Amino acid sequence: MVRIGVLGLQGAIREHIRSVEAVGAEGIVIKHKEQLDEIDGLILPGGESTTMRRLIDKYEFLEPLVNFGNQGKPIFGTCAGLILLANEIVGQENAHLKLMDMKVERNAFGRQRESFEAELVVKGVADDFEAVFIRAPYIVGVGPEVEVIATYKGNIVAAKQGHYLCSAFHPELTDDHRLTGHFIEMVEESQRPAATV
Ligand code: GLN
Repeated sequence: MVRIGVLGLQGAIREHIRSVEAVGAEGIVIKHKEQLDEIDGLILPGGESTTMRRLIDKYEFLEPLVNFGNQGKPIFGTCAGLILLANEIVGQENAHLKLMDMKVERNAFGRQRESFEAELVVKGVADDFEAVFIRAPYIVGVGPEVEVIATYKGNIVAAKQGHYLCSAFHPELTDDHRLTGHFIEMVEESQRPAATV
């Protein structure tokens, strides 16, 4: 059984643990950087990205998180977690983990659309995924390595780059666990020895 950590500094932590358990993996709340050694994949939850960044700095998580990704271990960022993964944020001088080659805009759907639900096609995952958006960002540009896997009204709302996955919506807030399941498959895949030719 793969062990999935959920960064436990702020945000929708319990909901992700529930979703991870629902697809048959073990969910562990990560509160100390040393715990990163015990897990196979990591979820960066939704919440508030500037608050999360402050706590990441306070608990000296920045470098360990970047190293975790650089070791080839899968990371799934949802909403604020997607913002943490991006290498560029509209209107901000500095980004955070800079692990995915994409530019994101925070609160991109505007005030009128603080939160809403939409049925989306998520490539390789589902044709009818019930996506919950809460003060969501979207992705305004991606580099050549990034695969767009979902859009909503022409805006990119989910993407993949190698062992990184992100969604602007919250896959942990409904009983549709297919996107979490997809991430677990990515983690299992990352553990298989590379095929020799
Ligand atoms: N708007 C939040 C931010 O910028 C993200 C919202 C969310 O994670 N639901 O961090």
